[in-house]
Amino acid sequence: DENMILQFQITLYGDDERLVMARDITRLHRLEQMRRDFVANVSHELRTPLTVLTGYLETYSDMAGMLPERLGKGVAQMQSQTRRMQNLVNDLLLLSRLENDQGGSDHVRLDPTTLLQAVKRDAEALSGGRQQIEVVVEESRSLTGSEKEMHSAVSNLAFNAVRYAGDGAHITLRWRAYGEGACLEVEDDGEGIDPRHLPRLTERFYRVDKGRSTATGGTGLGLAIVKHVLLRHEARLDIDSRLGEGATFRCIFPSSRLAAADPVALGRAG
Ligand code: ADP
Repeated sequence: DENMILQFQITLYGDDERLVMARDITRLHRLEQMRRDFVANVSHELRTPLTVLTGYLETYSDMAGMLPERLGKGVAQMQSQTRRMQNLVNDLLLLSRLENDQGGSDHVRLDPTTLLQAVKRDAEALSGGRQQIEVVVEESRSLTGSEKEMHSAVSNLAFNAVRYAGDGAHITLRWRAYGEGACLEVEDDGEGIDPRHLPRLTERFYRVDKGRSTATGGTGLGLAIVKHVLLRHEARLDIDSRLGEGATFRCIFPSSRLAAADPVALGRAG
């Protein structure tokens, strides 16, 4: 059967003995594909009804002055809940897109400084002055990747820092050398995370504090998105945190993903 998928495990015993085990994972693979398709289809189908609801609610909210007070409050509640649902559906769709196609077709040379500055502006808007956000660039090489995907990954990390680090925290968005490669780093000196949560943090819907993260508007998919974006860039996510001592999220790229600094761009930056 040409559609069969086999997984081989080869174990060496001494110099000349091998144990070869073959496992038929066709069914597992099909089930996984069904799960992905199902999530993608449901998310897609939810988009239209949500758009209709949003449209009507906007009209009612414009008429808020004419509505009885209790009704007005209800409309505001419905608006915020449909917004949440929309964020969730968008993140689910993004995630299934990231899982389902190969990626790489939109990879260009990225200037990490421009990327970090754009994310900083958005994070500042979300923070509304409750945190100090700064961009630090210590590496001159540029990065090869998808502009859209990297922007979404770093935004997720920066928005998390704004949402979870707490008021008065300092947030640093940094591009720096890391081993032979380099890393995009989002660091905060806020509330931090108990290390026992770290291994599961990138799982879908895994949250340290469910109540709080729902209140802050997260979907529970942010770090799963970051992880998938990085997988498509041969990069990995490293999380370093302790309770009460802030958190550092590093997107670590191998040197094969870096390009020598463009002299023109460097001249402009200086
Ligand atoms: P969401 O933020 O939507 O809940 P994420 O996948 O983005 O989902 O994050 C998972 C969890 O990790 C969050 O619920 C939060 O508990 C924790 N977290 C993420 N970033 C930070 C941070 N900078 N400081 C403290 N906790 C964080």
